[in-house]
This record gives sequence, C-alpha cells and structure tokens, in this order.
Amino acid sequence: MNIHEHQAKELLARFGVAVPRGRAAFTADEAVAAAKELGGPVWVVKAQIHAGGRGKAGGVKVVKSVDDVAAAAKKMLGMNLVTHQTGPQGRIVKRVYIEEGCDIKRELYLGVLLDRQTSRITFMASTEGGMDIEEVAAKTPEKIVRVAVDPAAGMQPFHARRIAFALGLEGDQVKSATKFLHALYRAYTELDASLLEINPLVITGKGEVIALDAKMNFDDNALYRHKDVEALADENEIDPTELEAGKHNLNYVKLDGNIGCMVNGAGLAMATMDIIKLYGGEPANFLDVGGGATKERVTVAFKLILTDKNVKGILVNIFGGIVRCDVIAEGVVAAARELALKVPLVVRLVGTNMEQGKKILAESGLKILAADDLADAAGKVVKAVKEAA
Ligand code: ADP
Ligand code: MG
Repeated sequence: MNIHEHQAKELLARFGVAVPRGRAAFTADEAVAAAKELGGPVWVVKAQIHAGGRGKAGGVKVVKSVDDVAAAAKKMLGMNLVTHQTGPQGRIVKRVYIEEGCDIKRELYLGVLLDRQTSRITFMASTEGGMDIEEVAAKTPEKIVRVAVDPAAGMQPFHARRIAFALGLEGDQVKSATKFLHALYRAYTELDASLLEINPLVITGKGEVIALDAKMNFDDNALYRHKDVEALADENEIDPTELEAGKHNLNYVKLDGNIGCMVNGAGLAMATMDIIKLYGGEPANFLDVGGGATKERVTVAFKLILTDKNVKGILVNIFGGIVRCDVIAEGVVAAARELALKVPLVVRLVGTNMEQGKKILAESGLKILAADDLADAAGKVVKAVKEAA
C-alpha cells in the first residue's frame, strides 16, 4: 500500500524524523488558511499524488505570498499531473500540501528497502540527491552506497556513521544524521514498511538534516496490525478495477495488453502470461481467482476483465484441484450470458470434474473455444484476437 507524502511525513515525525512543518489542503481556501497558520515568508505548494517526479512536472511550486499560495493551489487542484512515474495518463490532483520553504544547502538521497538477495533491510545513500536520482542509478551506480543491517543485531551506530560519512557529512551534521537514520529505521521496521525513500534529504543553511520529500510503501500482509496506516489508503489513487477486485479478494493487476486472463493460482497466472507472450500476444491483466473460486467470484472476475476496454479476447486457464472445473464452467457460462460476451473466449480446464466442466461449456450454446493444454490455449487465443482485429 502507498500513502501520500504528507501522510508519510506525519508518520515519520512521530518517530522523531525531522520534517518541515506543513498542512494538507483539499481546497484553495484551506490552502490559504494553512499558509497563514504556517506563517511564511516562503511556502511550497506540493501536489499530493502517489507518484514522484512532481517537481519536474509542475507539481511543486515555491511561492512568497499567501496570494501566490492560493493561485498555485487553485492551479494544481483538479489538474491532471503527468510525471515520469504516473505514465502518460497522469493523475488528477485532489489535495495539495502546503509546506514551509526550506533553505536548501545540499540535496542528498536516502532509501530504505528490503534487499531480497541478502534478506536484509538496506540503506541506499547518495550525495547525488534530488530530481535526477534515476539518472544517477542508471549512469553512475557507484555513486549510490549500500549499507545492510543484520536483522538479529538491528541497527547500530556504526551503520549510521557509515551512511553519514558516505553522504559527506561532518561535525554536528553527523550527530543529527545519526538520530535521523535511527528514527527512520525504527519507523521502517515498526510500521512494517516495504520502502521508505527520502529524496531529497537536505542539509539546510543552518546545518540541519531534514526529510524534504518522503515516500512510503507498506507490506499489505502486515496491514492488519496497523489499522491507522490502513486508514490512510486513498481510493482516488487506486485503479478502480483493482479496488473492486480487492473487495472480492481477487488478485488483479491491470496490464497494457489485450488478452484478458482468468487463472487460479498466482504461479499458473504467471505461466499463463508468459506463454501468451511466447505466442506473440500481450496479457491485459494478471488475475488470480484463488483456490476457493465460486460461481459468483468467477462472474465478478469476468466482469472485471471486461471493464478493460482493451480486452479483445479472454483466456480462462483453470487447474481444478480444490476448485472444481464444473463450478468454474458454470461461472464462465453465467458471466458470458449475463455480459453478452462479444470477444473470443478460450477455456482450458484440467483436473477435478473436468469432463462435467467441458460438457457444461459445450452444451451452453455459447461460442467458447475449448483448449487441451496451455500451449494450445495460448495459440488459440492469440490467433482469435489477431483474426478479430
Ligand atoms: P518530487 O520528488 O515528486 O519531484 P519533491 O518533494 O522531491 O517532489 O520536490 C522536488 C524539489 O522541490 C526538491 O528536490 C526541492 O528542490 C524542492 N522542494 C520540495 N519541497 C521543498 C520545500 N519545502 N522547500 C524548498 N524546496 C522544496
Ligand atoms: Mg522527491
């Protein structure tokens, strides 16, 4: 799960991470009230969307009067912000963050993540912080220093010092940074975060160490023990189809292709996507209906696939183990009838009650292409979509 910058800063502040003062606003009037409360003389109006790259796209504006705060907020609220992280469709800005302006001396980069190769929480630090970190990672990766923390011993002072020195800090800055880094580590572990990114981490004119931007992602599987974090979810930022899928416990991820996939089991879903590509097609989604698929869930899953206007064909690939093929077949037939299915549908059913399942499909009178195995199914759906185009 993702949250907004202002929410991440609020959470981090609770752990003692230094952040600028700020207020979230949903209207220009609220922005003005926030600006007055903060008191100037410099404010920054920041679009709140679940994507970075705002600075380069007009989503961060430094202003020097309350009138300019109002103007900037008015301009940003409701705008479709397209950044290099949003994709071409962009995101509608529904809230802004009004923050005190910061006297920036240096912009550094700091990330905390779980390195799956070493199974360790790892800090990534670079002196080359700010808006071009992607370029640094691509062209001069040696400028990014990694420090891994042993989970048994936890974070130690030497970790913090190593990072501080890598960032070129000196004197009191090392002390501030040490406190900052320990607070960050504690926030990461105690909140079950999966990613924490401070870019830029700044050194101010007075030598303070402050998080000027904050991005936080959380491990969905641990959200049950952080109800306050879960409550920060913003439905505006989630793809509506993925939101609907979540309500029915379906694992759905929208992709850019045109072949809708309905599969049971994440592994089989991955293999199905792979084989579609192998046959020259492009999957429109990842969809795992899970082990306990019922007729109702299959119907919902079908509807989800068809709300994607790019879908020009569907491949149903079910391995009947716990779930029975006849139940799936009933669901497929019911959904195809209800939705007056117009795109080609290829179904591969194997396993428990597969004969009954195939019979239900065959007797439905619907135009369903039956397939014998994975390769046959992928070949058929790719061909059908190409012919229909
Ligand atoms: P993004 O990563 O989405 O571009 P940031 O929050 O990192 O957004 O802001 C982009 C740039 O705007 C920062 O690198 C910094 O130079 C400037 N900036 C952001 N917040 C402030 C602030 N409170 N005071 C002064 N400058 C800021
Ligand atoms: Mg940033």
